[in-house]
Amino acid sequence: ITKLIAGLKPDEKFFSLEFFPPKTQNGMANFRARLARMAALKPLFITITWGAGGSTAKKSLDIASECQSMGLDVCLHLTCTNMDPALIDQALEAASKAGICNILALRGDPPRGEEYWQPASPEFQHAADLVKYIKKKHGNKFCVGVAGYPEGHVDGSDASHQDFHHDLPYLKEKVEAGADFIITQMFYDDNKFLEYNKAVREFSPLLKNITIIPGLMPINTYTSFVRAARLSHASVPPAILDRIQAVPTGNDQQVKDIGVEVVSDIVNDVYTKTNKTVRGFHFYTLNLERSVARILERSGFLTIEEDCAVEEATGSTASTTP
Ligand code: FAD
Repeated sequence: ITKLIAGLKPDEKFFSLEFFPPKTQNGMANFRARLARMAALKPLFITITWGAGGSTAKKSLDIASECQSMGLDVCLHLTCTNMDPALIDQALEAASKAGICNILALRGDPPRGEEYWQPASPEFQHAADLVKYIKKKHGNKFCVGVAGYPEGHVDGSDASHQDFHHDLPYLKEKVEAGADFIITQMFYDDNKFLEYNKAVREFSPLLKNITIIPGLMPINTYTSFVRAARLSHASVPPAILDRIQAVPTGNDQQVKDIGVEVVSDIVNDVYTKTNKTVRGFHFYTLNLERSVARILERSGFLTIEEDCAVEEATGSTASTTP
């Protein structure tokens, strides 16, 4: 990923897309069709999530390998808690065999139904341990990314320590261990991101020029938006909330339309207000294509030729169907 970024023009914008492995065969068939269309939008790379506690290990690896063989540059998420540490080696070997050379190294959340995360072994307590392990075992074979939290990391529902300043020494530890880039938790308040971006860079010379890729989630329905913001502890500026709450119940299309404006405005603001030093944006797609394609178009990521792909992907550039 760092090589791909280095190959871009100095202030050229780029984007990446996150997918999760579908649960059912039907879901997989739909996903494959969407994936092909979204690949046509030319993300710089895509990422595939790793179910908490390795719950999707096989599916994540299968999909990641399939995407890599389609010619996409894949970054595989990998966690190191609540699972047998042997799975870490298996995943890294399978990724390497498939030609995947990017890993997003994470601690992991507790699997569904479990309240607390558990270290897999004394060796793996935090994401930094996984970064160290990958570097020790595989040298520079993998380009390694880590997570960052513009509004502070929160464990479970305990938001009493929610403050990114608390995480900065550990973020530095992850980069000292060899992490090459940071993808952030989703946010809707660009001022929070801008403050975080500045603080990270000022915290240590080691972090001054690190690539920070802001994570953004399109808004699909009012309920899913409120739920995602709550789970990720992302604050929603009153101006955005007011606009969305003013939409008549059930008018999901209007919510989506507002979401496209909100998220593309964040992209444009962050790019401009950081003097184009933050120029990559990561979209939590939830495996859905239309809003992402429209955001990319409104944020000026797509060239005329690629706009045709949006038309194909969405049915229309000004799509009105969900
Ligand atoms: P860490 O960097 O280890 O930090 C976790 C907490 O521990 C922070 O509060 C930090 O301040 C603290 N900490 C770190 N090191 C130390 C230390 N040495 N001593 C004391 N405290 C310390 N989860 C999944 O299960 N699967 C996924 O695919 C997935 N993808 C994600 C993608 C992104 C972009 C993001 C932002 C998160 C993702 N997550 C995923 C969620 C992530 O696993 C959780 O947020 C998890 O709770 C923390 O992971 P981390 O890698 O940030 O952990």
